[in-house]
Amino acid sequence: MTDKTMLDASENVTSFDSFAFSSTIYQNLTALHYESPTPIQARAIPHVLDGKDILAGAQTGTGKTAAFGLPLIHKLAQEPRERESHSKVIRSLVLTPTRELAQQVFDSLVPLAKDTGLKVVVAYGGTSMGVQTKNLVGGADILVATPGRLLDHQHNRNLTLSECEYLVLDEADRMLDMGFMPDLNRILKRLPKERQNMMFSATFEQRIKTLAHRIMNEPVEVQVTPANSTADTVKQMVYPVDKKRKHELLAYLIGSRNWQQVLVFTKTKQGSDALAKELKLDGINAVSINGDKSQGARQKAWDDFKSGKVRALIATDVAARGLDIQQLEQVVNFELPYKAEDYIHRIGRTGRAGHAGFAVSLMSHDEQYLLEAIERLLDTRLPQEWLAGFEPSPVSEIDPDRAPRRNSRGADKRKMKAKLKIHANRGKKR
Ligand code: AMP
Repeated sequence: MTDKTMLDASENVTSFDSFAFSSTIYQNLTALHYESPTPIQARAIPHVLDGKDILAGAQTGTGKTAAFGLPLIHKLAQEPRERESHSKVIRSLVLTPTRELAQQVFDSLVPLAKDTGLKVVVAYGGTSMGVQTKNLVGGADILVATPGRLLDHQHNRNLTLSECEYLVLDEADRMLDMGFMPDLNRILKRLPKERQNMMFSATFEQRIKTLAHRIMNEPVEVQVTPANSTADTVKQMVYPVDKKRKHELLAYLIGSRNWQQVLVFTKTKQGSDALAKELKLDGINAVSINGDKSQGARQKAWDDFKSGKVRALIATDVAARGLDIQQLEQVVNFELPYKAEDYIHRIGRTGRAGHAGFAVSLMSHDEQYLLEAIERLLDTRLPQEWLAGFEPSPVSEIDPDRAPRRNSRGADKRKMKAKLKIHANRGKKR
């Protein structure tokens, strides 16, 4: 259910002052140059402060981390706990589907919690258990973790979840997509029944609501954009092009439009590696980031991209989850995603926190049905344009196997004509 009264009241929240946070938190907000709450913050924070469970439909880039982070930090800091070295208590748990998102959430929470005395720890796979184990000594006020690594630490008795007061599921839709439900169930069994829950999801499908109602206590729904929509600040364009010319078109776009920082999505890991290689041959500094790379390599690629050393970052959907750059202007779908929801996640990498963004999709003829699925989900038609010099070939010349089948009546007629011809020829011979 949506708490209409609270939603209406929150429309008027234009300042962080109305939340009565501690002076330390206000100092931190000033240091971060967060001047006023974003819409999801204005709507979610009052409920969280009120102790309610919330189900928040907010796409990536809307400021959702601080929407749960600020009230969480405020509440935890109000009741500080003595930390003893033998303690393994985790007071609040933030679960994320990917390592990158875990790191990003941690990076956002640390400056918000500065000087509050709270201990924030991050734990995810692909890096050594040792450092994380050390960090967990004495427990944590906030632990940001991926489900698998959390269970590893639980198994090694590095932590206890039995006194955890708050649970945040970030990007819950992706967590389900990635098959984390069994891990999630294992974790839920270890958490106390009495706790406050916050669930965030970019897309707001029925399965998300079903999960929310299973694990939460009468959650309040807050949504800042209509379900399954894309940010208004992102301009979208589809360029139909032959599959074999996509790479050439991408290099042309990067060069002719002088794109200095472009995030490119491919469907497969192999595709991302191959494309990075091809762009390099064209003189465009590109690296790929995918699940086959070590955490160190992924982090380096990301850092080089952020600092501007690398111009094009070629990523798969999973690898790109959680990447955050304030002013990333270009996102390119080199291939359209199989899952329409991923389109929203992908283009959510640009147009963040109110900045303008441009999302380009290079669509070959055989991807038409994927575009249709995206348009159905968004309930809108995306603009299409043929770029001069890259116009797609007539369908049948692209790939004979993929050319649309002629209808059977036509086929029957052709067969009939062929038969008649044979008969006619036979007649001539006689
Ligand atoms: P998120 O959706 O949590 O990934 O946040 C997207 C970006 O918005 C992050 O880079 C945040 O630092 C930034 N951000 C979050 N809240 C605010 C705010 N109230 N004012 C300005 N920037 C913000």
